[in-house]
Amino acid sequence: MKIAVLGAGLVGLASAHALADEGHSVLIIDREGPAAGASRGNAGWLAHTDIDPIAHPKMLRQVPKFLSDPLGPLAIRREYLLPILPWLARLLIASHPANLARSIEALIALQRLAMPAWAQLSARLGMEKMMHRNGGLFAFETHDAFREALPHFKRQEAAGIRVEYLDGPEVRRMEPALSDAIAGAAFFPDAGHVSDPYLVTMALYEAARARNIDFLQASVNAIDLDRGVTLRFDGRDPMVVDRAVIAMGAWSKPIAASVGDPVPLDTERGYNISFPGSTRYIYRPISFQGSGFVATPLDTGLRLGGAVELAGLKLPPNHARTRAIYKKAERFIRDLPSFDQGTVWMGFRPSIPDSLPVIGYSTRSPHVVHAFGHGHYGLTQSAATGQIVADLIAGRQPPIDLSRFSPQRF
Ligand SMILES: Cc1cc2nc3c(=O)[nH]c(=O)nc-3n(C[C@H](O)[C@H](O)[C@H](O)COP(=O)(O)OP(=O)(O)OC[C@H]3O[C@@H](n4cnc5c(N)ncnc54)[C@H](O)[C@@H]3O)c2cc1C
Repeated sequence: MKIAVLGAGLVGLASAHALADEGHSVLIIDREGPAAGASRGNAGWLAHTDIDPIAHPKMLRQVPKFLSDPLGPLAIRREYLLPILPWLARLLIASHPANLARSIEALIALQRLAMPAWAQLSARLGMEKMMHRNGGLFAFETHDAFREALPHFKRQEAAGIRVEYLDGPEVRRMEPALSDAIAGAAFFPDAGHVSDPYLVTMALYEAARARNIDFLQASVNAIDLDRGVTLRFDGRDPMVVDRAVIAMGAWSKPIAASVGDPVPLDTERGYNISFPGSTRYIYRPISFQGSGFVATPLDTGLRLGGAVELAGLKLPPNHARTRAIYKKAERFIRDLPSFDQGTVWMGFRPSIPDSLPVIGYSTRSPHVVHAFGHGHYGLTQSAATGQIVADLIAGRQPPIDLSRFSPQRF
């Protein structure tokens, strides 16, 4: 069977491998090349221990504080206020306790598949050394803020996730570069991070090419289902395939609509700065709670990043935001390299208001499978999504209930 995977990010590439494992002839199509989207520069955190949708009251309670700071962890660009309103309305609906409980349950189910799937994929492709399992820290500036977050960590424990609670000196023994501004932290021993998301994405791509998965650089603008599955491109002839997988991250919306699924996909833009070669600061990813950024010790250098900016796909980046992240980080991490020594980046998280990706058959044809919208967790969930995509293409029952991920759930 000839299967086109649209998008050469982590989700598309992991899906391509899972499909090739089943003996299919796979063609990956990307308008730019591998690792052109969010997969290129994300924070690198294997965050399967996170189980909170963004619509969680814990997050929503902080919205007024965040919005009052134009360079704070959450911003809505004025020009994008109107277009994002329907998405925000859905975010509120997703925060209703009954909806939230269902989203958390679904998120836990997918997160449980994440690490076994990565272990399998990385072992299959000889990428084990790119996966680090040093745990992750959620650090707090005040004892009050730490105490307030405890019920949340208890819920994670109830879901079977290991958590240890550390005071300031214990955190600094673990991470000597952290300053006295940290009062305590929750430690997740089973969390992990990758060597560098770009290197991981490229390793998946190169392994794909080595096993005869084809690649085509072309921009897909629609899928036509009148006769089989016909891919339509900008500036080149259409192509007929047996099956197609839509894995174009934040850009999937119009293609999903062309197969009958008008999904509420938008983007939460994120910013970061990386310091190539600065590898000796911290040993595990650290999320600085209340400040809205994380620090990750990539093999290629320290990366500081985060923030959510609702501004769509077209407006130019605002790296004053990256500078604001750096300024905050200076309070928490000793002796950082200067801002000018870093490389800045902005990426587009593909985000659905309920924080669950869209995985399932298109409304108009079981020959088209959706696999996009992974928001904050696309690196973490990519290998598991690939396995589910292969199940769907084979007509097998996936290991988790996909109704909460369905493209028809909206
Ligand atoms: C700042 C930031 C930090 C993050 N940190 C983490 C983290 O620590 N852990 C985690 O798990 N996740 C993290 N994420 C989320 C994660 O990066 C994404 O969820 C994930 O990369 C999405 O992968 P993808 O393959 O779906 O999309 P992408 O990587 O965006 O790939 C989509 C591809 O589709 C291609 N494309 C677009 N339009 C077309 C077209 N018309 N025709 C053909 N191809 C097209 C693009 O060129 C691109 O290559 C972060 C994201 C950001 C922005």
